[in-house]
Amino acid sequence: MRVDEVRRLSLGTFVRPAEETGTGQPRVETVLGYVARTPAGVLLLDTGLGEAGPEIEAWYRPVRSPLEQALAEVGLGIDDIDLVVNCHLHFDHIGGNPAFAGRPILCQRIELETARTADYTVPELVDFAGASYELLDGEAEIAPGVHVVPTPGHVEGHQSVVLECDDGSVVLAGQAHDAASHWSADALAAQSMGLGHRPPLPDPSPWMRRLLEFDPKRVVFAHDAAVWLP
Ligand SMILES: [Zn+2]
Repeated sequence: MRVDEVRRLSLGTFVRPAEETGTGQPRVETVLGYVARTPAGVLLLDTGLGEAGPEIEAWYRPVRSPLEQALAEVGLGIDDIDLVVNCHLHFDHIGGNPAFAGRPILCQRIELETARTADYTVPELVDFAGASYELLDGEAEIAPGVHVVPTPGHVEGHQSVVLECDDGSVVLAGQAHDAASHWSADALAAQSMGLGHRPPLPDPSPWMRRLLEFDPKRVVFAHDAAVWLP
């Protein structure tokens, strides 16, 4: 697999209300999934915006793109997916999960435990008939060159995927950062001493140095169409 064979899926958009953006303006945000043929099988990261009830619908005003259609655009169908990884279990990342009954869904154990508490996500999208979780406790190499790495922050059980391709690594960061520019700043924070800076310096996320060890050629995000390049 090559870096450019990791495909992006456009799964919809929603409008983050002004109350959550800090800018005084609402912001339209994209919802992206990723699919790749890996040594672990055809891997899908995230499945789109779920039906979350009238309150969430009114708050985020989502517009959905069906997962089947997004997969068809890259020449795949639901049946081609061997395993699903969810970066976390909020409603905008697991909407299509019930289509994968019987197929492994990878998430952090702590994330599934949190998702089963009240007011975290849509329970029907988590514990649907045939849901088959493979729970991880921290970092795991699920097949040669296919890594799942915890990236807590947005939520404690957040995780990202690193794919070692023939021509370099790709990080499917999910919502480890909302925006590529936030990743940029965090990566520079982790590299700042090596760049010759001296304190006071910002603290990087605790997982940033681990992800940079993979020397990523590309980092992609769940809610930003922008891509980080080294
Ligand atoms: Zn999200």
